[in-house]
Amino acid sequence: GKYTQEDIIRICEEENIRFIRLQFADISGALKNVAITRSQLKKALNNQCMFDGSSIEGFVRIEESDMYLVPDLDSFNIFPWIDKPSRTARLICNVYSPDGTPFSGDPRNALRRVIKEAEDMGFHFDVGPECEFFLFRCDEDGNPTTQTNDQGSYFELGPIDRGEEARRDICLTLEDMGFEIEASHHEVARGQHEINFRYDDALRAADDIMTFKLVVKSIANQHGLHATFMPKPIFNEAGSGMHINMSLSDKNGNNVFADPSDENGLSDIAYSFIAGLMEHIKGMTAVTNPLVNSYKRLVPGYEAPVYVAWSAHNRSPLIRVPAARGNGTRIELRNPDPAANPYLVMTLCLAAGLDGIKRGLKPCPPVDANIFKLTEEEREEQGVFSLPDSLKSAIHCMKKDELVRKTLGDHIYRKYIAHKTSEWYQYSIRISQWEIDRYLMRY
Ligand code: GLU
Ligand code: MG
Ligand code: MG
Repeated sequence: GKYTQEDIIRICEEENIRFIRLQFADISGALKNVAITRSQLKKALNNQCMFDGSSIEGFVRIEESDMYLVPDLDSFNIFPWIDKPSRTARLICNVYSPDGTPFSGDPRNALRRVIKEAEDMGFHFDVGPECEFFLFRCDEDGNPTTQTNDQGSYFELGPIDRGEEARRDICLTLEDMGFEIEASHHEVARGQHEINFRYDDALRAADDIMTFKLVVKSIANQHGLHATFMPKPIFNEAGSGMHINMSLSDKNGNNVFADPSDENGLSDIAYSFIAGLMEHIKGMTAVTNPLVNSYKRLVPGYEAPVYVAWSAHNRSPLIRVPAARGNGTRIELRNPDPAANPYLVMTLCLAAGLDGIKRGLKPCPPVDANIFKLTEEEREEQGVFSLPDSLKSAIHCMKKDELVRKTLGDHIYRKYIAHKTSEWYQYSIRISQWEIDRYLMRY
């Protein structure tokens, strides 16, 4: 590991860190934390920090609510934007039950389980996420609006506006926290941005997404802006995706997706991984696209996928194989959005890919035409089917996928479905402005 307990205690003293946040994620992917002062640090590092899990989404019933937080020492990091009157650091934790077993409702534990399974098969799983988000203005009371600062679009470099300044500050803060920022740019929609950081093993990558969202929101806020990872905040504009780039390597660090002798440069393992993703994608969609609003992004015309297909050459399908080959060979899954719980997204992506490998699945042929231009008959001929088109239908598909249930474990699976079913119900009984505009006068 990077740090020992003694290192952490010493750094906290040297850096005047008085508060340490013990972080974890609930089932919906919300970041939770318990703050402790430095006086409690030793206890926390000895895994003796207990908390009451009864009011955490999807955790436990009242009668079994005691949980323990077990810090991952290597996740120790200082928040560069908090320095008065003292500094604050964090430790990302695994949640354990009082009997000493990993708690089955902790999404990070689910990911660790499937990573272990991959390791037992001789694979190391790396993930590079691409998070898109919007920056909106706040009103006089500090509440977010849906007004953007700029009218910018893809890769634009306008006169520096507040959005660009915030984005630059976000990148610098992330670098201070050890992120390697590869690129950042304005995205297609007004007020929309993207920042890419270097891939890492799946557990770190999921932790990084959690940290990324916190940093983006905190720094935007310092600039008087509201950052949102809501998938489709503005009608008629591009939504925000969280593309997931994945690769598997063997014990010697060789990328096992690459095969120079193949016409697409892909190995049998890569083909099976793609096939596994396509086999389970409908059962996974309620997790990768978790909100009612997510499905308003998955529509034709905005570079978001609608159909289940793959291609080594164009960006319209669900799965794309970016141009890099050799050790950079990877598979990009394009439907996830940044509202999703990153631990559960990676858990299911890896499990689906491994399932494809174990069963030796082969994907249908690639679709290199723009799928949106194919007729329904042409799509049917090529075996191209659609992603679920609403949260309701995604929940329905999740209920039918046994691998998703087994991978998440009954606890997370049941709580997740119950939570999303109620979200759908709350939405479905509301009357929207569109209905009023369309029906009130006419009927
Ligand atoms: N914003 C698009 C989406 O919803 C993706 C654009 C891109 O390819 O970066 O997925
Ligand atoms: Mg993008
Ligand atoms: Mg991408």
